[in-house]
Amino acid sequence: MELSIRNLSKTYSNGVKALQDVSLQIPTGMYGLLGPNGAGKSTLMRILATLQDADSGSATLGSIDALNQKHEVRKVLGYLPQDFGVYPKISAQDMLDHLALLKGIANRGERKAVVESLLERTNLAEHRKKALTGFSGGMRQRFGIAQALLGNPKLIIVDEPTAGLDPGERNRFYNLLAEIGENVIVILSTHIVEDVKELCTNMAVIHLGRVLLSGSPDNALTALRGRIWQKSIAKAQVEDYERQFKVISTKLIAGRPTIHIYSEADPGDGFHAVPADLEDVFFSAIRGFAGTREYAA
Ligand code: ADP
Repeated sequence: MELSIRNLSKTYSNGVKALQDVSLQIPTGMYGLLGPNGAGKSTLMRILATLQDADSGSATLGSIDALNQKHEVRKVLGYLPQDFGVYPKISAQDMLDHLALLKGIANRGERKAVVESLLERTNLAEHRKKALTGFSGGMRQRFGIAQALLGNPKLIIVDEPTAGLDPGERNRFYNLLAEIGENVIVILSTHIVEDVKELCTNMAVIHLGRVLLSGSPDNALTALRGRIWQKSIAKAQVEDYERQFKVISTKLIAGRPTIHIYSEADPGDGFHAVPADLEDVFFSAIRGFAGTREYAA
């Protein structure tokens, strides 16, 4: 199964162009949709989750017309919105049971088995009786995945799922997603480069409603080979360098700024070439250094 998105555009009534001619090919596996806040990620996720309409364009999920056959999409969709928002006082087990009923699993025995297996899978079995209001951020996100997995979805959409998780929780969440992504399409929308680095076999960078690049992270890294240069400088020099060079990022290493710049030729001046990392890919794309391009997966 493949999700194919063609020329999708969406402008809000206040004139914000949230999506502009977005086209993406999304195969089975983990797909990272990486973009800064306001890029248009949630808009795209909500359109794909049938919660919002696009102005123009089309999308197909296998043989389903994903923008018009909403009922068909919903049957195969699992969705974890950015703000899941529903944390009532009832227990995880009862809530999942209720959601399973809404998903159409009418048989009580079957529902019990499904709920049990999802609680196990998301490592929440020992917390089954605990009220959702008392869940930590990581537990809430794992519960969010449990509910998204109800009904064996073929397309799973998770919108900014790791924001606010501590490193341990984030790791547990990564492991869970990696396991799920083996057989279905999982679209992970995120502004966190590490999410994509750890998990995704394919990705796109989106900014101001446009796709700046898409393909495999490896190919995106290869395309930047020999173009990323690093130097440690003094704090007072940062602005100077920003004027002179295409600065991708400035990071403090042991309290001293280390800059990465984009340059097709050796910039001299004490810079040395370094292998590109995904942050270089992301910021080069956002800042318009590496241009718009598509990398074959
Ligand atoms: P992201 O998820 O990448 O942060 P969004 O899709 O939420 O991006 O937003 C894309 C742009 O559309 C932003 O400029 C945002 O302010 C705007 N936007 C989002 N929702 C609405 C809305 N309901 N009405 C008007 N503008 C919106």
